[in-house]
Amino acid sequence: MTIPHQAGYPNRGCGLCRAVAHATLLVLVGSVLVMSYPQLTGHVQPMADAGNDVRHASVVSGRGASLSAFVNDANASTDEATDAVGQGLPATVVSGATVAGDLFKLPLAQTIIPKRPRKDLVLYTVQAGDNLSTIAERYDVDIDTLIWANDKLEEDPDYLTIGQQLVIPPVSGVLYTAKDGDTVADIAKKFKGDVRTISELEYNKLVAPSMNIISGTKIMIPGGEKPYQPRLVYIGGNAVMVNAPRGGGRFVWPTTGYISTYFSAGGHRGIDIAGPPGTPVYAADAGVVILAGWDGGYGNCIIIDHGNGFQTLYAHLAAFYPQTGSNVRRGQAIGKMGSTGNSTGPHLHFEVLYGGGLVNPLKYLPQ
Ligand SMILES: [Zn+2]
Repeated sequence: MTIPHQAGYPNRGCGLCRAVAHATLLVLVGSVLVMSYPQLTGHVQPMADAGNDVRHASVVSGRGASLSAFVNDANASTDEATDAVGQGLPATVVSGATVAGDLFKLPLAQTIIPKRPRKDLVLYTVQAGDNLSTIAERYDVDIDTLIWANDKLEEDPDYLTIGQQLVIPPVSGVLYTAKDGDTVADIAKKFKGDVRTISELEYNKLVAPSMNIISGTKIMIPGGEKPYQPRLVYIGGNAVMVNAPRGGGRFVWPTTGYISTYFSAGGHRGIDIAGPPGTPVYAADAGVVILAGWDGGYGNCIIIDHGNGFQTLYAHLAAFYPQTGSNVRRGQAIGKMGSTGNSTGPHLHFEVLYGGGLVNPLKYLPQ
């Protein structure tokens, strides 16, 4: 496939751009056919600079089609095209003139999150199917950042409901509300941050690191950490204060062997990993053991609460070492593979729960 030469379009000769153009043209040709604009050919060319939150829309050739039709193809609204005109592009293009070789800029669609730090906080409304991992990934921050920025989550990371509003900080780190007399240096020290990165973050709007911070101002500490606060955990119905280790959200494989049964939603609640009896079983992440004992069909069973919304369950154990209420480290040996309870042969039945709901363990285990 060849692309008609178009005057004024930069970098047409660049091999990489040509490859990108080929790929995008292929996609657009498909959509043009479907959208029945037979005269319209062209493509949407993303900016080479991924850090920029605009995209280029470039008409390679547009015979007999209005820009508005092309704008439709570019999934842009008329308002966006008007904005583009506001950026110094000719208004006649938008008013329905035939287009050929016009280049215009459109803001990125809102579902595409730019990689550079956001300038402001995002207020996100929790939707069905969300969990802290998916929200964190979507906004390119870590789970702890979400927990630290939202009091309710800090009290209980399992607490996430549809319609709940979460504050999403612009980058990973700690969002802190300044108190009277705070200086940037104090705040940096308190949260293991860095004066320079705090001062340079656009969101903080600090003219100089030495400036006085008005009490109540929210200051973001990029890469900062909040000192870990012991929290209440419920064991056997009684709330007890436990200086509990909290999981980092990265799991290790709980044992070795081969997967004999996979997870299925509404069916098999976890994965089965089969191996020789006595194979060591490890805690997938740090946490508190909330059950260590016999659990009906699960036989000898351990459940660990990782304090970040995740719990993991290890069933059919031949032996287990920690007791209910014990703290465990990530990768700590907690028992031996067996076939206790409702089991036909030695294997580990391993479940991952998030916010109380079962999830596919393979999504969280290293590949
Ligand atoms: Zn199983």
